[in-house]
Amino acid sequence: MPTPRYFQIAVPSPLRQTFTYLAPHQQKGELLTPGCRVMVPFGRRKLVGIVCATSAQTDQAHSRLRHILQVIDHSPLWPAELWQLLLWAAQYYQHPLGEVLHTALPAPLRQGKPAQTATRSHWHITAAGRDALTTLSRAPRQQAVLQLLSHHPQGLAQEQVLTDLPGSNEILKRLLDKTWLACEIQPVSWDLPRAHAEAGPLLNAQQQAAVDSVRAAFATYQAFLLEGVTGSGKTEVYLQLIGHCVAQGKQALVLVPEIGLTPQMIRRFEKRLACRIAVLHSGLSDNERLAAWLAAKQGDVDVILGTRSAIFTPMHAPGLIIIDEEHDASFKQQDGFRYSARDLAVWRAHHNHIPIVLGSATPAIESLYNVSRERFQLLQLTERAGGARAPRLHLLDVRAQPMHEGVSDRLLQLMRQHLENNNQVLLFLNRRGFAPTLMCHDCGWIATCQRCDSHMTYYQRDQRLRCHHCGAERRAEQQCTHCASENLLTVGAGTERIETALRERFTDTEIIRIDRDTTRRRGSLEDLLHKIKNGRRQILIGTQMLAKGHHFPNVTLVGILDADQGLHSAEFRAPERMAQLILQVAGRAGRAEQPGEVIIQTHHPDHPLLLSLIREGYNAFARALLQERQAAALPPYTAMAIFRAEAVEREAPLGFLERARAILQTHCDKQVNIFGPLPAPMEKRAGRYRAQLIVQAAQRPQLQHVLAAALPQIESAKTGKVRWSIDVDPIDTY
Ligand code: ADP
Ligand code: ZN
Ligand code: ZN
Repeated sequence: MPTPRYFQIAVPSPLRQTFTYLAPHQQKGELLTPGCRVMVPFGRRKLVGIVCATSAQTDQAHSRLRHILQVIDHSPLWPAELWQLLLWAAQYYQHPLGEVLHTALPAPLRQGKPAQTATRSHWHITAAGRDALTTLSRAPRQQAVLQLLSHHPQGLAQEQVLTDLPGSNEILKRLLDKTWLACEIQPVSWDLPRAHAEAGPLLNAQQQAAVDSVRAAFATYQAFLLEGVTGSGKTEVYLQLIGHCVAQGKQALVLVPEIGLTPQMIRRFEKRLACRIAVLHSGLSDNERLAAWLAAKQGDVDVILGTRSAIFTPMHAPGLIIIDEEHDASFKQQDGFRYSARDLAVWRAHHNHIPIVLGSATPAIESLYNVSRERFQLLQLTERAGGARAPRLHLLDVRAQPMHEGVSDRLLQLMRQHLENNNQVLLFLNRRGFAPTLMCHDCGWIATCQRCDSHMTYYQRDQRLRCHHCGAERRAEQQCTHCASENLLTVGAGTERIETALRERFTDTEIIRIDRDTTRRRGSLEDLLHKIKNGRRQILIGTQMLAKGHHFPNVTLVGILDADQGLHSAEFRAPERMAQLILQVAGRAGRAEQPGEVIIQTHHPDHPLLLSLIREGYNAFARALLQERQAAALPPYTAMAIFRAEAVEREAPLGFLERARAILQTHCDKQVNIFGPLPAPMEKRAGRYRAQLIVQAAQRPQLQHVLAAALPQIESAKTGKVRWSIDVDPIDTY
């Protein structure tokens, strides 16, 4: 084979192409293979690029080509299977390869740092530092650092010091110069295997059958959908399977939703598995992330536990993939490279010839469809493990009923009963703030966001208005800006309002609200959850933060305050989400001796979807939804992609999408339909006008074909300051 002279390099740029470079000066570049990083000149900048292909020939003018500046890796960064996955994903999601590859790397590697085990600085106080501590009173910040380290005789990692005392970088250096502190460079390493893991419960027959089915498929590809109500023991099934996988010397990759990677969950894994676990949580420093990445690649960890982006962790000996709460929307990246970690995981399992287990109490409609097509094998856990009984669901018709800030008389009455029995009551409302609307009673004026087509949410406690779409904030008006009336009404109820109203009514009951506004401070969610766990007679009010991941055994009554939101949305996935959320919330409640009761307030007690959910359960509901989707030719019966465009001027995004439509049409046949362009349902957001164009095809390959053919032309049809993106398999049609 002739020595390659030309290298196709992907750089992090929005252009959907690679760039050709020559070997570094004085070198032939024989060792430069696809998957290695290089430093290249790009315009006037220097970028970290990745070799994607090499060739002996080029059709480009040699004189215009530039040389690679520096070779960073001498062997590919990724194992072959993961490299193939990334190439495939760039094509499937129609995203620039350079950005895909960069997304898949830990930050230090993106910046061109060597792919070696990372190190970290470890700080100690010295004897001189201890002496100084007693005399140093005029430098409070230095004193704070010395004080902190004096409480930690073993020293602290730099990240820890900076977490406790943000911005003390300079001070550390100064104290080092004064020899009051000492610094050691340590490799970031992994705990050795634990000698003993705690034994789990004896599995029940259904759990055992699930474990046996998956074990029988070890070392071959098979996708399993593990459908089991909350508390049915899915996690026990995962833990056993991981144990078997690791015992065979293989690695397991476990993905959980963002909200599900809680300290309790991590502790449970660590307690039960006698192996090396890398947890990729958001609190890791860049270096710790790199260390985990490298350890997984080298086989120095057995289990990788993380959220969406952990799907890009290289594995030395892949054996099993598990996706918990597989229906969760957080597995889909919603900006930039819009991949679905769940779908990529299935691809990865397939190409590694290993089993994948997708677990959920409320599987995605797509996954149930895959079961019906026999692409996934269904495993069911129908009983709650450990004897707890499933909660009972009731619809509560609130039409014409007296309501108190969104809570009906009947629900208040039930709440009192449950509280008198010394139990907890959980109220769910997926809306933060005091009221979603501030309106003038005299003229009808409504406080809106100046940057979005939306109302501002009113916050009573701090007398402010906030936009939940762009984050804009202002002091709440005391007078109507239109007619100067002071007669302003707050319309509708959010969690803050429910809390305020219930505090007046239940003066002797502890009330805990959990939403984004009450959990901003780090650790505050943990504190609140701790209070709930140890509490009895309490009212809990929360948004979907409260709906997922936690079990509250003392909750015996759940009130869903507004189930109707999901029934009237233009978004075709809204009913699915609503049902999933209702069942997730319902699943928080109840234990063996006290099954939970779930009250769903609705103005539409005869709605067929709600009825099938309550009377026949999620599966019947899902079947009804699938029929609707089929009749309407919506996913999963068709393949969909959305082009979204936005700009400061109103006409620009529509104009661009018109041109995109014309280009797409030249590549389409009868099997492909184009809808739009249309203004987005909320046309203006954060000061920009938005529009969208939907492309739908009977089959994925047709959609892929059209998009791949049209995109280069669409890219060059862009004019002015239009920002645009493409979303393949979107989960929101907004
Ligand atoms: P899921 O993941 O489906 O919500 P978990 O695995 O967390 O369910 O199990 C719920 C509770 O039941 C946990 O406290 C768990 O320890 C317990 N459990 C699970 N399986 C069994 C079993 N076979 N016997 C007794 N308790 C079990
Ligand atoms: Zn007015
Ligand atoms: Zn706004």
